[in-house]
Amino acid sequence: MNIAIIGGGAAGMTAASRVKALRPDWNVMVLEKTNFVSHAPCGIPFYVSGIVEYFEELCTYDVAHFRSERGIDVHTNARVIEVGDGYLVAEENGRERKYEWDKLLFATGSRAKRLNVKYEELEGVLCVNDITNAEKVKKWALKAENVVIIGSGYIGVEMAEAMTRLGKKVTVVEMAERPLPEYDAEIAAVLKTEMEKFVNLRLGERVVAFEGKDKVEKVITNKAEYRCDMAIVAVGVHPNTEIARNFVELGKSGAIKTNSRMETSRENVYAAGDCAESINVVTGKSDWIPLAAPANKMGYVAGVNMAGYELHYPGSLKSQITSFYGLEIGKAGLSEHEAIREGYEVVSAFVTTKSNARYFINGLVHLKAVADRSGKLLGIQAVGKGVAMRIYAASALLYRGANVRDLFFTDFPYYPPVSRVWDPLVVAARNLFRKLGIP
Ligand SMILES: Cc1cc2nc3c(=O)[nH]c(=O)nc-3n(C[C@H](O)[C@H](O)[C@H](O)COP(=O)(O)OP(=O)(O)OC[C@H]3O[C@@H](n4cnc5c(N)ncnc54)[C@H](O)[C@@H]3O)c2cc1C
Repeated sequence: MNIAIIGGGAAGMTAASRVKALRPDWNVMVLEKTNFVSHAPCGIPFYVSGIVEYFEELCTYDVAHFRSERGIDVHTNARVIEVGDGYLVAEENGRERKYEWDKLLFATGSRAKRLNVKYEELEGVLCVNDITNAEKVKKWALKAENVVIIGSGYIGVEMAEAMTRLGKKVTVVEMAERPLPEYDAEIAAVLKTEMEKFVNLRLGERVVAFEGKDKVEKVITNKAEYRCDMAIVAVGVHPNTEIARNFVELGKSGAIKTNSRMETSRENVYAAGDCAESINVVTGKSDWIPLAAPANKMGYVAGVNMAGYELHYPGSLKSQITSFYGLEIGKAGLSEHEAIREGYEVVSAFVTTKSNARYFINGLVHLKAVADRSGKLLGIQAVGKGVAMRIYAASALLYRGANVRDLFFTDFPYYPPVSRVWDPLVVAARNLFRKLGIP
């Protein structure tokens, strides 16, 4: 059997490793357009800030490891430019080469969204989308004085911290009225206050132009102008599906449609990771969830099924955690505005409480729980201290389709430095009881 995998990131290398572990005698080939495999883009902000010292640390394993330890035929500098029935064509180290496959996996990830204004010819306008430009971003960051970051999703927020840690003057321009627009306003308001201590946060502003001779000198919005010597565009991502688009069916999001075995519309062709759609466990509908943990698991499932075994991917919750200096921010499931958009009749509870015992300092957390009228839990968001463990707990509950009673009665352990007898999750559940008429 010849297995071909396009893309050597999280999904691709996990799938390759799985197939090879289950079918050691099959040929497993990975084609990766860059020089890197098994890379961790999630670490880029920490590499830029200097918390991670060496670029190489961003790659979990190197190419040699996959070749010698796992027997995977890894081709780097191999960009796949065409896919057809049973074959693909790659531009490999400057030469076009054709390969045959019996089973194929698209694991091509996502790419940064571009702004709808002209800036291609200006140096110093950069994205933080993938591993290949991490070093470039760092080089520019080290010599810049004024940096404008466009977008305040989690990448914009993490880059804002990275840049201010390097001592740069940072302006963050966000089109929405709050940072992290996927979160609800109460949660984002806490982050806003914290960000304003470190950066010039401009909300409700849209970039209309960049100016500069050869390199960027100014970012112009619909309301103001900001001088800068570096600009970072972090306005979201698109699924990377150019080579797949005419070969397999895409979903509404533009990502590749898959079933729970990660099979596409074409026999023996699979898709996994940021380029693939999957199920949102809360809504039960197809969704596009471009995050690292789901990408790895989709890759795992694709690998098992490609190897001829059976494993189903149930979907994910879009669980996420980020931080800004000491402030942790996290979310699992739907925020209130997302739930309303999905058509749920929603009840919610927002609580501000200590995350640890009264007599410990520094433990404030703001937590919001969202449920529907039947009491089904739809999502939890939190900001402050002790967020990660609440989001982990919430993820487990949401994954099992829990209701507000489950949230109340789950036996969360109490230990004064880290939790409370009445945990913030339980307090939020009790508030929801009131709104749902539960005594
Ligand atoms: C700055 C940053 C921070 C992030 N932080 C987090 C985080 O904290 N938590 C989280 O869950 N997620 C985070 N993510 C998202 C996470 O990195 C992705 O969800 C994950 O990398 C997706 O894995 P993947 O294998 O689908 O795609 P990728 O890791 O992008 O791998 C796709 C691979 O395909 C290759 N490729 C594409 N087209 C071709 C082609 N035609 N031929 C050959 N190769 C090709 C690419 O070069 C790439 O190596 C972050 C992303 C960024 C950019």
